[in-house]
Amino acid sequence: MNVARFNLTHAKAEKQLPVVNVLKKIRETHPVGIGILLDIRCAQVRTGVVEKPVKISMNQEILFGVEKLAKAHKGKEVFITVDYPAFGKDVSQAENLLIDNGELSFDIVSISPSGVVRARALQNGNIGSRRHVNMPGANISLPTFTDADWEDMACAVRENIDFLAISFVRSGKDIDQVRAFLHKKKSTIRIIAKIETRQAVANFPAILKASDGIMVARGDLGAELPFEQVPVIQDQIVAQCRAAGKPVIVATHMLESMIEHPLPTRAEVTDVAHAATIRTDTTMLSGETASGRHPLVAVDAMDRILRATEEHLRSSAQESPVPVSSDAEARAQAAITLARSLDASAIVVMSKSGRSAEALSKFRPMIPIVAITDDAAVWSHLSLHYGVSSLLCSFQGELETCVVRGMKAAVAAGLLKKGKGIVLVTGTEITGGSVISVQAREVR
Ligand code: PEP
Repeated sequence: MNVARFNLTHAKAEKQLPVVNVLKKIRETHPVGIGILLDIRCAQVRTGVVEKPVKISMNQEILFGVEKLAKAHKGKEVFITVDYPAFGKDVSQAENLLIDNGELSFDIVSISPSGVVRARALQNGNIGSRRHVNMPGANISLPTFTDADWEDMACAVRENIDFLAISFVRSGKDIDQVRAFLHKKKSTIRIIAKIETRQAVANFPAILKASDGIMVARGDLGAELPFEQVPVIQDQIVAQCRAAGKPVIVATHMLESMIEHPLPTRAEVTDVAHAATIRTDTTMLSGETASGRHPLVAVDAMDRILRATEEHLRSSAQESPVPVSSDAEARAQAAITLARSLDASAIVVMSKSGRSAEALSKFRPMIPIVAITDDAAVWSHLSLHYGVSSLLCSFQGELETCVVRGMKAAVAAGLLKKGKGIVLVTGTEITGGSVISVQAREVR
């Protein structure tokens, strides 16, 4: 794995710190950078707390509404409370109501003037405590962030976390708020916008511009929009992130059956392989590793599928080009051309800010990129970028001294082999001034 996500939907950041600290400890002796991502809950609609799960039968009509309206119906009809005041008003725009991303769905029969919704179940099922509610088509009038979210973000800053994933983003302005908060705290945390609402799909260009990366959060996306639209949206988002040179994560249900079973379905294997074929940066596991029965086997399965698919892609036709939009990217393209012509075993990049490594990654060379940096934040941020293994090395001394030190570290980490050809890119300020070069070398 390259990055660990800690989902704050069910527990505050502080509560997850013991596990975050285990990962930080492992990182101390792990040469290649591993990222830590906190997934901020943000405003989402949930059902209230129930003593035991409420059994629902197909075609049964039940009521939904805010807590204060429940009393009048107590003992007469099933009443599921929903935790936000404007529910009765906003729900009028919804096409239907979905519980747990559509595990259970309801047609809306009527809405009373006070905002109690009568809804008909389309399946048998249960509604437990604090279940997630989707209202496809409705503009939820909750502010994006709660006080608890800001507390979690402050904790992320204190704990030097690498990435914040922001849930239920609706516009670029949501990301701007987080950016301003991080800026005030002088934090270098990267912001990943989760695309999972209709508004996020409509406002995608502005969201992409404001964020450092994107997550295609297919679970909620497939509930908020007709699920048949998800594959096209996923591929469009990946293509746009690639053109912008920003990392993109494809998430949710990738190996869902492995929560229970030791083998993935062949359709899941094909889904992961598809994500590799469109050259997404990252594929994500959720329940498979968070609560599944075979977490290690699931990570191994994903690794095997990605490696096998990339092996095939390496030998197949070149894909369509992405635009070059900076000097660093032009240099990256030249380095990749040279590496391909020489059949180089890797592209090694000395990268203080990470930008030269990111530029190489943007063009998906299908040749391993070894990024050497002296900045711990860059070391872990590069974990999210396609094809990059990052190493942390001191940049003290002359450029050549730093290069030799970096190559030695890469050999020790098993990323380079002595005697093999590589292409070396130095596009960074190292002690002694700025040196920009692309060279063919042999690993010594
Ligand atoms: C999703 O909905 O696909 C998603 C990634 O969000 P979460 O796992 O936080 O519900």
